[in-house]
Amino acid sequence: MEEALRTECRLAETGTAADGPTVVTEGQLDRIERYLVDITDALAQVGLKRCSCCGKFFQSADPKALFKGREVVCYRCLSKWWPHRRGQLSTIERDSIEHKLVHWLIREHNADIVRDPAKLGEKADKISMIASCLECNGTGISDGRTCSRCYDGNIWVVTPRDDIPSSASGS
Ligand SMILES: [Zn+2]
Ligand SMILES: [Zn+2]
Repeated sequence: MEEALRTECRLAETGTAADGPTVVTEGQLDRIERYLVDITDALAQVGLKRCSCCGKFFQSADPKALFKGREVVCYRCLSKWWPHRRGQLSTIERDSIEHKLVHWLIREHNADIVRDPAKLGEKADKISMIASCLECNGTGISDGRTCSRCYDGNIWVVTPRDDIPSSASGS
């Protein structure tokens, strides 16, 4: 957080480079940070929540807009965020969030589960995400046999590309 603020401060200074860089003190940074926390709190009170990925605000009451796992992430960011995030979690955490995510996509975004990657081509106009099979927990083996619900432990969750809720700022 602080690092991002420092970078923004530096960017804002580029116009006055002739005067040398303006030093932003720790005290100023603290004030900016408190100010941002206050604004975020105020927006939460009017029902807006922020995507931890892109930083945009969405209506918290809109069940389609935000996935609320350990972090809050908007629908648009999910397909970029999850493949990266899942690699940083323990297996137990990853499976629990991923199951929640798959169920949320099915419930709120009419997601289809595709078990054969060869059939993904027909769904080119959709957003897809690879997840561990919910039946065999990604092992590919169920009751001692090859799991019939997945391809080698993986399933593809595909949702329509036009099913994207708009952010509070309207973009
Ligand atoms: Zn986002
Ligand atoms: Zn399976």
